[in-house]
Amino acid sequence: LIDGAWIDAPQTEANVSPSDIADVIGHFPLATADMVDGAVDAAKRAFPAWSREIPEKRADILDRIGQRIAQERAFLGEVLAREEGKVLADALAEVDRASRVFRFFAGEALRVTGETVASLRGQCEATVRRRPLGVVGMITPWNFPIAIPAWKIAPALAFGNCVVLKPAELTPACAWHLARIIRECGVPAGVFNLVCGSGAVVGDRLVRHRGVAAISFTGSTTTGARIAAIAAGRMARVQLEMGGKNPLVVLADADLDQAIEIALNGAFFQTGQRCTASSRLIVEASVHDAFVSELAARLRSLNVGHALDADSTIGPVVSEPQLAKDVAYIRAGREEGAQLVTGGEVLERRTEGFYLSPALFAETTNEMRINREEIFGPVAGVIRVADYDEALAVANDTEFGLSAGICTASHKIACHFRDHAEAGMVMINLPTAGVDYHVPFGGSKGSSFGSREQGRQAVEFYTSTYTAYDRPL
Ligand code: NAD
Repeated sequence: LIDGAWIDAPQTEANVSPSDIADVIGHFPLATADMVDGAVDAAKRAFPAWSREIPEKRADILDRIGQRIAQERAFLGEVLAREEGKVLADALAEVDRASRVFRFFAGEALRVTGETVASLRGQCEATVRRRPLGVVGMITPWNFPIAIPAWKIAPALAFGNCVVLKPAELTPACAWHLARIIRECGVPAGVFNLVCGSGAVVGDRLVRHRGVAAISFTGSTTTGARIAAIAAGRMARVQLEMGGKNPLVVLADADLDQAIEIALNGAFFQTGQRCTASSRLIVEASVHDAFVSELAARLRSLNVGHALDADSTIGPVVSEPQLAKDVAYIRAGREEGAQLVTGGEVLERRTEGFYLSPALFAETTNEMRINREEIFGPVAGVIRVADYDEALAVANDTEFGLSAGICTASHKIACHFRDHAEAGMVMINLPTAGVDYHVPFGGSKGSSFGSREQGRQAVEFYTSTYTAYDRPL
């Protein structure tokens, strides 16, 4: 979608469901670098009028987009479940979130504020103001194919920017339908552009294009680091949300049944393919054995199946390469001496897809590769610790810092963990995954770079401040 029109690309690629490789959702474009240039040019041309538009007009359009997403909920949820593989209930929840995000930022469009400061020079007033950046390039991953584009596009448009979105190769359909809705809801031509295609061609051109003022990226740490280096080279603003190796600490005083549900949800739901998934389960020795055996029993009762089947609790892995990666890590875990308590088997189902039974390792150490590298699949390792102090040290001993959780009945320890866990999001008696959309989202260390996404703080990335000194004559 460039300058308000749908353009054919020279090549297309089949978008195949991971639940059933015979289910082709559609053939989507693999755009060229020239098409990126066209999209950026269109966005630049649209920027002066859009950025000067009264905020209420932008708010109304964003509100309409939010309402339309809600109206198309059932359809969009099915498309999302088919192409990404998360079960329908989770896909519908993600669509709801995208709808809410647009409606939240419709309100925020009206709430851009500045600051008035007494000047140090007499009879002069200093004001700090905000203005939009221009063209923002967005590069998104496959695991939240409608929510992540939504939480980048909505604030960008709310504050008067124009957008070029490059979605993940594996999930173009959600982005395509979101673009269709955005266009149908009255966003002027060129203000929002969608360019589908590969990271190496489309993503790379977007990052290097001098007409793109800022890049908002969500994806792996490797890709993020590469993008940051290029963006820094041309002084473009950049925001990166990347991987995690999120710890969940379970102390002896926790409600064990609740802790097991929290671990189950946080580590394995949505096939463990969440950047906030709890892949390291750090458990106090006195409850370790009971925790492992009960969590394993709960895992065996989960139903791994087709994303659209009503009785599936976990869908397939997103793709064949990701399945191969998960299996390789499971092999590596065993070779390093971890004990595979349950799961880790490639499964056959009624349709041909990429099914894997959720894998729980015990007797792991924090030095093992399975506990240091992001796997991004339904795989978690349990680490036995003596007490809270050791648990906190292990939790923080990672290059990542996205989300961290603790299950405990002690308010004192919970507060200590809240303030000392090296993570951008801290969860007390809650899964590490699952966040609200009206508060900031992001991490520390190798998980995030740049200012926060979502909530009121999103304005920091999508606007720049300027200072005006004003002396009345
Ligand atoms: P990825 O890094 O492979 O791809 C992300 C996006 O970057 C895709 O659109 C891809 O096409 C593009 N890309 C790839 N190479 C590029 C290049 N050279 N130049 C420009 N763009 C390029 O990640 P993925 O496999 O799609 O997603 C999984 C990763 O995303 C995991 O690491 C996960 O933790 C992370 N993630 C993070 C968050 C967060 O908010 N922290 C949220 C969801 C996913």
